[in-house]
Amino acid sequence: MQEVIMAKYGEIALKGLNKNTFEDLLVRNIKRRLVKCGEFRVTRNQSTVYITPENDDADIEAAAGWVRKVFGIAAVQRAAVLPKDFDGIVKLGVPYLEEVLGAAKTFKVDAKRSDKRFPMKTPDIQRELGAAILEAYPHLTVDVHEPDVTVLCEIRDSNAYLSAERIIGVGGIPVGSSGTALLLLSGGIDSPVAAYMMAKRGIGVDAIHFQSPPYTSERALMKVEELCTELVPYCGDIRFYVVPFTEIQEALRDHCPEEYFTVIMRRLMIKITNRICAEHDYKAIITGESVGQVASQTIMALACTDKAAEFPVFRPVIGMDKKEITEIARKIGTFETSIQPYEDCCTVFTPKHPRTKPVLAEVEAAEARFDFAPLIEKAVAGIEIKDFKL
Ligand code: ATP
Ligand code: MG
Repeated sequence: MQEVIMAKYGEIALKGLNKNTFEDLLVRNIKRRLVKCGEFRVTRNQSTVYITPENDDADIEAAAGWVRKVFGIAAVQRAAVLPKDFDGIVKLGVPYLEEVLGAAKTFKVDAKRSDKRFPMKTPDIQRELGAAILEAYPHLTVDVHEPDVTVLCEIRDSNAYLSAERIIGVGGIPVGSSGTALLLLSGGIDSPVAAYMMAKRGIGVDAIHFQSPPYTSERALMKVEELCTELVPYCGDIRFYVVPFTEIQEALRDHCPEEYFTVIMRRLMIKITNRICAEHDYKAIITGESVGQVASQTIMALACTDKAAEFPVFRPVIGMDKKEITEIARKIGTFETSIQPYEDCCTVFTPKHPRTKPVLAEVEAAEARFDFAPLIEKAVAGIEIKDFKL
């Protein structure tokens, strides 16, 4: 019996004229992730991508795990491909469910009949398939409200499909459908979550990181690289820019008033980011800032940072509290890496009393006490690039 992965669209199903473009991108993104899992045939029909193993070596379980993380997919099901006659569905399909139903106590059957030529009506399919399952697995009882397992029987154009496990996908729209942006990636909890959230809206994400050796260690950088690796299954390939930031931070410490240190530092990060965006055609900047989290994230501080930006700044976690951000970090698997206790350049030379309500004119005046332009040039010239690939 043939088994298949059915990956069902989320929002793309609602797209109009340009639906095809989204679907093509979705299929391409799925195919790239399957490379590691063996040979599969990938087709699409009725708002579903069908992923069929070409041989016994294809690892269907691993494939389902990868596909679950592809933006654009709302749900993933492993299903038996069955003939479109009821006796065939029972004969081949009911044994297929053995592993899942064997471990359950209660179940219900849901049927969906998109091929209206199929002779049985939906309630009849549900009732009769339920009876056949009860006969084969007498330890089970039916519970239509809170079943351990919902068996789904779909009568579609090409075949009937029977499945018992529905994995929730990540939703969103396919990465690559909304351009690319450059993420300011620190080692913290917030910025990886920000990457995930913008990728969910179809944005391709590359990352820029500022490091200040010897104040920040090699291990701190490795931690950020680890975060890139963890984001790749969701975001796709990530190009990672590492900016040498030490000299800028030292100049800042030596020449600018301490109370403005943080806000000027962020503006300088943004100014360098502007350069990379312009050079490599990124359309926006992403950060993990959240209002009120720290002194540099008050409305007025964010406004001063924004004035240095030449691109839109997206802050998808701006209105979230730490608990909400942490929940997502756990769900996507970046949390454990983010909490490793390594220093970030933001935590070196931090002022005791940063201005929480900086005024732009004063910030600009403080910044003008030193000519940062040559150091910015030098930092940009010293950028190292590393690629993280699927
Ligand atoms: P946490 O998750 O603990 O809040 P954080 O990384 O968010 O840590 P913040 O000081 O709150 O730390 O920084 C706010 C944002 O600024 C980050 O989300 C990130 O986008 C950016 N940022 C901070 N430090 C760096 C860095 N060294 N390189 C690149 N971006 C950084
Ligand atoms: Mg933060």
